[in-house]
This record gives sequence, C-alpha cells and structure tokens, in this order.
Amino acid sequence: MITIFGSGIIGLFIARKLLLNGKKVKIIDLDNNRGNSTDASVGMLAPLIEARPYENNLFNLMIESKKIWDKFLKNKSFIKNTGLKNNSSLMIATNKDEEESILFKKKFVEKLGFFPEILSAKQTIKIEPHLNSNLKCSLFFKKNNQINAHLLKRYLIKDVKKMGADFLFFDQINKISFSSQEIRFNNKKISSEKIIVACGVWSNELLKKSFKVLFPMRPLKGVSMLFKTKKRLFINNIWYRNIYIAPRDNNFLAVGATEDEKGFESFVTLDEIFTLCNSLWEYLPEIEKLQFINTFVGLRSVLSDGNPVIGSLKKNNDIICAFGHFRHGILLAPITAKIVSDIVLDYKINENLTFFSPNRFNL
Ligand SMILES: Cc1cc2nc3c(=O)[nH]c(=O)nc-3n(C[C@H](O)[C@H](O)[C@H](O)COP(=O)(O)OP(=O)(O)OC[C@H]3O[C@@H](n4cnc5c(N)ncnc54)[C@H](O)[C@@H]3O)c2cc1C
Repeated sequence: MITIFGSGIIGLFIARKLLLNGKKVKIIDLDNNRGNSTDASVGMLAPLIEARPYENNLFNLMIESKKIWDKFLKNKSFIKNTGLKNNSSLMIATNKDEEESILFKKKFVEKLGFFPEILSAKQTIKIEPHLNSNLKCSLFFKKNNQINAHLLKRYLIKDVKKMGADFLFFDQINKISFSSQEIRFNNKKISSEKIIVACGVWSNELLKKSFKVLFPMRPLKGVSMLFKTKKRLFINNIWYRNIYIAPRDNNFLAVGATEDEKGFESFVTLDEIFTLCNSLWEYLPEIEKLQFINTFVGLRSVLSDGNPVIGSLKKNNDIICAFGHFRHGILLAPITAKIVSDIVLDYKINENLTFFSPNRFNL
C-alpha cells in the first residue's frame, strides 16, 4: 500500500500511475480546504510559451511531460471526458514593444530547437476572425494545447476509484508519524510502504510539523475566470501580454490569471476581478456580450528556484515529495507521476530528472 497525501492533479496522476503499475493506493485529503491550485487552473499545456531563459531543466521536464500528454490525444474516451483539446496557441502582439517581445521569444525557442511561425495581422485574423483588429502580428505555437482541469480532476477521481483507490477525508491533519511501514495521525493507523506528499503549497506545513523539514516555498495567489459566449469565438488558445484565454466546449472561455503575493489568502478580491476584466476589455472590446459564469482562486506552490520538488527525502527515502509545480502543474502532472512511480518501483531514474530531487536544498 502506498499512501498519497493530497488529491490535487499531482496526487491523482501519481495514484493513477501507481495503480496501473499494480500498487494499492490510499489517498488522503482535507474536507473544505479552500484555494487548491488545480481548481483555479486554466489547463494550458504550452511548454514553448512557458519556456524562460536559464530554465533548461524545467523546459526539458515540460517537454517530456508534453510528450505524455500528446499520447492521451489518441484516447477518444479520455478526450471526451476531460475536454483535452488538440488545438494550438497564438501569442498576440498589439504594439511595437510586444512585437519585439515575440520576436525575441521566437529566437529564444529556436535556440531550444523549436520553430514557431510569425503570422501577420491579416494571417492571424484569418485563423481567428473574432480577435480585435488592433493587433500587429502573432506567434503561432503549433500543438501547445489545453485541457479542462475541472473535468480532468473529476475523470481521474472516477478512474482511480474504479481501479481500487481508497479516499479518506479529514477536517484537519496536524502531524503524522511514519515508522516501520506504519503511518499514525488523528488516532488512525495505516500500513503503508511509502508516503507521497502531494499537498501543493500546504506540503511544507505537513512536512515541518511531522518530519521537521521545511522547504523554501511560498504561495503565489492566482485568480481565473469563466465566461460564456453566444457563439464560438476562438479555436486556438490566445495569449496576450497579461492574460490568456482558453476556449472550452459549449462556448465557454477560461481566462487567466492574476499573480499576487498575498500569502494564504484564499478569497477573490474585487481588484483581481477588475484586473482580469480590464485586460480582457482591452483585447475583446465587446465585453458586454460575455456572460460571467464564475471566478476561481488557487494558491500556486513556488520554490525559491522556481522548480518543483520531485523525489525522496534524504532523511527517509520512503517519504516522496511531489509539489512546487508553480504555473505548470497540469502540464507537469504526467511526468511527475512517472518519476514518482519509478522511485516507488525502484526503477532507475534518468539522471536529468534527478535535478528535481529535494536533495538540492540539502535538508
Ligand atoms: C489561476 C491559476 C492558473 C493556472 N494555470 C495553469 C495552466 O494553465 N497550466 C498548468 O500547467 N498549470 C497551471 N496552474 C498551476 C497548476 O494549477 C498547479 O501547478 C497544480 O494544480 C498543482 O497541483 P497540486 O496537486 O500540486 O496542488 P493542489 O491542486 O493545490 O492540491 C493540493 C491538495 O492537497 C490537499 N491538502 C492540503 N493539505 C493537506 C494535508 N495536510 N493532508 C492531505 N491533503 C492536503 C489540498 O486540499 C488539495 O486538494 C495554474 C494555477 C493557478 C492558481
């Protein structure tokens, strides 16, 4: 039996991978814990757009995970149940500065071995006629697609339950102890070979209280919104300077996202709604035609070096960490699950992937 703390996208993907590899799995989470990152996610699977200078290891991890996502595109039932789209991403420039910035981006990803295409304003409007005509040009990232994270989570919960996963929920879990393959917490004992800590930004709290380990990690609050339109506006994901838009089935549009240092605040404030609406209005002036559906708040878990933590604790190899996925947790979930499952099954890990081990913090 393997026990996973946290049933966000990372915990669920790991559970699925372990079950497929013949392991028994117990998943533990909290009742009514507000602000999980997965529910706020827009679900972009766009490694080329997310690529940043000096982040080669992270970029390679994103590319490896994207390869796994692309295999899911062959599974019709997965697509139907999760809203996985086989679309692409358009990064739009509306002025000279943004044009410079996308030219820089093009050169940068070319150095990484990928060749996105610059489209003129006319070419861009031809493929996305509902875009505001004030644009200058765009950069077309083929197959940088997206998935509906809400549907994905629902699908994975159903799938892992079908494969025999057991879910347990608690009001609170303050501290756990783990020795001789037994976990103790809240007057409960669970036999378990290993523990996986996949509690997103709350992983630190659990690790600190239970095992006196504290990572240099902080929450970064994000708000996203959901709208509906009368007719379908876009085919591709649209990326502007400060917002991005993901077209979903049935004319829904997911729009993301704010990034604010507000600690563990987990409610939506009016300035966050204003920021998103104001940016949207700049690019889609007919804002009055958008039907507001919902807002979502999520706390991204961010390590001091911006990379996730995936691997065993030095203190106890049977405690495996899988958190700190910042802006990329949906994209990185499949490769995270593969690494964790390889560790559990004692398979050799590709050396490039050991870069993300907790040992880099020497805790
Ligand atoms: C607004 C926004 C937009 C985003 N857009 C994208 C995107 O387009 N593409 C992308 O790849 N990523 C995106 N992300 C990032 C992505 O959502 C996260 O990286 C990912 O969801 C992290 O998943 P997780 O399972 O680690 O954490 P979470 O989803 O936060 O889940 C953690 C779970 O742990 C549980 N938990 C907490 N404490 C305990 C405890 N003590 N015991 C047991 N369980 C506990 C929580 O209740 C929760 O269910 C976005 C994030 C935000 C906020």
